[in-house]
Amino acid sequence: MSPAFPRVALIGLGLIASSMAHAMRAKGLAGEITGYARSTDTRAIARDLFCDRVTETAAEAVRDADLVVLAVPVGAMGGIAAEIAPHLKPGAIVTDVGSVKQAVIEAVSPHIPEGVHFIPGHPLAGTEYSGPRSGFATLFENRWWLLTPLEGQTPEPLARLRALLEAIGANVDEMDARRHDLVLAVVSHTPHLIAYTMVGVADHLRRVTQEEVIKYSASGFRDFTRIAASDPTMWRDVFLTNKDAVLDILGRFTEELFMLQREIRMGDGEQLHAYFTRTRAIRRGII
Ligand code: NAD
Repeated sequence: MSPAFPRVALIGLGLIASSMAHAMRAKGLAGEITGYARSTDTRAIARDLFCDRVTETAAEAVRDADLVVLAVPVGAMGGIAAEIAPHLKPGAIVTDVGSVKQAVIEAVSPHIPEGVHFIPGHPLAGTEYSGPRSGFATLFENRWWLLTPLEGQTPEPLARLRALLEAIGANVDEMDARRHDLVLAVVSHTPHLIAYTMVGVADHLRRVTQEEVIKYSASGFRDFTRIAASDPTMWRDVFLTNKDAVLDILGRFTEELFMLQREIRMGDGEQLHAYFTRTRAIRRGII
């Protein structure tokens, strides 16, 4: 059987791109996988582990590619799109995996030439590790992959991309880009910020030592530290590009936190109990 995409180009060779490459290879979905990364070391690792070919420029990587995946931090997407645009093959599908969608659409779409299909996407899968050695074939299994197609998107390329993502194990959903950014601000971006803050607080405390924090950290704080170990460049870009939604959710978070602070200070057990009962019901609804 011929592969779903004879030529795939991966731009940026970190956790997400390497995981896609491993998964596509495992399922025989890509004929040839070409990769581009800025550093010689990253290219060499990618060539050893998951790319058939690596190139020194992004432009060279996308020439003749049927599928181009932009897997760089959100803030770098526009520059890459401008660089590759003149070299894209007519009929090619360009997708991205950025954690924010509206800003990526605004940065990338103006560069996409007529006849090339840009379909923005975001896999809701990741780990705290980054770089070309961190990828693995099963990362996307049973995880959501949200696509935020642009208005007027023709159905055939969308169906081809969807079929590829489903074949590597993802559950695909379509969503409006702004809605995506708001939902992700609630379920991912703001929680990350809170984790960063909590770990920062522990670091700044003088009355509790680092040794005590590390030694006695139980699951709650341990989870915070795992989240706070995520790639700083990626997360800086997420907050800079999903500013409005994150500030909206952060504002609501601070209000509730102040309310809880007040209830604790006042010794209002009844209110605290009612609040925690509500949150427990939400958790039980998820499982
Ligand atoms: P990563 O740090 O593992 O890899 C990013 C790659 O992009 C690296 O090869 C890096 O060298 C390269 N890069 C950085 N800036 C660049 C630039 N200006 N030009 C060219 N290359 C550049 O990151 P990742 O986790 O694979 O994330 C890639 C994208 O996927 C990001 O947009 C991120 O928002 C998104 N994403 C990440 C996760 C996650 O949990 N890690 C989950 C879903 C989506």
